[in-house]
Amino acid sequence: MVIQEKVVIGVDIGTTSTKAVVFSEQGRVLASHAVDYSMIQPYPGWAEQDPEELFAAVIQAVGGVTVRYAIRPEQVKALGFSAAMHSVMAIDKDGKPLTNLIIWADNRSVSQAERVLKEQRGIDIYRRTGTPIHPMSPLVKLLWLKEEQPDIFRNARRFVSVKDYVLYRLYGEYVTDHSLASATGLFRLSTLDWDEDVLSFLGIGREHLPRLVSATHILQGMKKEWAEKMGVAPSVPVIIGASDGVLANIGVGAVLPGEAAITIGTSGAVRTIAAKPTTDEKGRTFCYALTPGYWVVGGPTNNGGILLRWLRDEFGAQEREVAKKLGVDPYDLLTKYAERVPPGAEGLLFLPFLSGERAPYWNANARGTFFGLSLHHKREHFIRAVMEGVCFSILSVALAIRDVTGPMEEIRVSGGFAKSPFWRQILSDMLGKPLIVPQTHEASALGAAAVALHALGELPSLGMVKTWIDTTACHEPNEAHTRIYAELFDLYVRLYERLKEEFDMIAAFQRRNG
Ligand code: ADP
Repeated sequence: MVIQEKVVIGVDIGTTSTKAVVFSEQGRVLASHAVDYSMIQPYPGWAEQDPEELFAAVIQAVGGVTVRYAIRPEQVKALGFSAAMHSVMAIDKDGKPLTNLIIWADNRSVSQAERVLKEQRGIDIYRRTGTPIHPMSPLVKLLWLKEEQPDIFRNARRFVSVKDYVLYRLYGEYVTDHSLASATGLFRLSTLDWDEDVLSFLGIGREHLPRLVSATHILQGMKKEWAEKMGVAPSVPVIIGASDGVLANIGVGAVLPGEAAITIGTSGAVRTIAAKPTTDEKGRTFCYALTPGYWVVGGPTNNGGILLRWLRDEFGAQEREVAKKLGVDPYDLLTKYAERVPPGAEGLLFLPFLSGERAPYWNANARGTFFGLSLHHKREHFIRAVMEGVCFSILSVALAIRDVTGPMEEIRVSGGFAKSPFWRQILSDMLGKPLIVPQTHEASALGAAAVALHALGELPSLGMVKTWIDTTACHEPNEAHTRIYAELFDLYVRLYERLKEEFDMIAAFQRRNG
């Protein structure tokens, strides 16, 4: 296929792949190309990536799509970037990496996070920076590097994220956008600048960090070699863009204050738009920047669709077999079973913390629990309880966000879970709110393309993205079900509070005996 029209390319540097998505000027997906990469886990709990592999993936993703669809350089109006949050790596004086890229999923700095959290300093840092004190945070990772690998820390000339590194290779300059910076724990929300107090706590200066620019900043003068490999002109405007989380909100059409996006893929997140930076007294939510007047307040949960995947893989041999014969998706069979059981799974309650939990509890030691088990419970009760448990955890995050930003007016859902109308209805019933299912294709890349057009002055407001996005379904909550879930949610919260100490004990046991 040959694409003739003018295009904008959204480049989304994700955790498992980089995708180059080609959009028309009205946000229609015309083509895309993804290049996968691997995760490096030298020790348990570590999660790294090779920066060279990621840089090559960006070049190949864009180069691949322009070649395959015969897109000529003069057709490409702009490139807009999106990238995963919370990555950090050290670079020496010659621009050579001293470390791999340490990504969001890396948990090596658990003890640094616990220590900082116990101090008033930790709470103050969160309030100023909007990034929870957690091993995912680059601030906490840098503290680990300083304490555990002091030579590397001392020799580092810069600390940068994945996107900063890619742009350095393309332009020879260290720049980062306010949005990615606001997810580092080093950036003061109120001044849109690096936080001097955090920098002196770490013992670094602003010269160790990239130059800060807004999400609509336009880079020009790309090195010829890379422009040629990507099939674009060296003069093509490249809009720095923002983080994938913030851009995904735009990409599903949750763009105005009070509008929220709930995504449940492998993990999950609730994010809403706020007109000013807002943090939580209790430290439960994050606040990340896009542009002044446009902030995203939300919370991530570790325990999303991965739980149904766990059920499918560990206990769903029968469904996998049948699904294979019928040529259907095993998830569809599992959810069909769950539909036989009434809301509340006849009193089987599931606390879904199989991977610990981030928002709202921020407790790495939390563990999964089935509660209320009795002889009448069958496998379908377990399936339903697991699906409901994922939604309880989303509800707990949504309530924390509501405390901070007020009620959510419109909620849009996406991610693998949204393939199941039944699961979406459970979520609507549990939240007691209508849900909209937008037709999303690569929401973060679409957000990046929208910011690019906005930066070029061709999209007067980001809110206009809404007109690009169709709705595929809507759900209305069933009041009777909402009442049942409210009763069980109360129990869910009580159970979590009561089991906190026991979670620490079983997690310690697992560490000793794992
Ligand atoms: P994976 O199975 O590799 O995790 P996806 O990204 O497609 O792949 O899905 C993410 C999650 O979304 C799955 O783990 C699962 O929980 C959920 N999901 C995907 N497809 C369905 C479906 N048809 N019905 C219910 N849930 C689904």
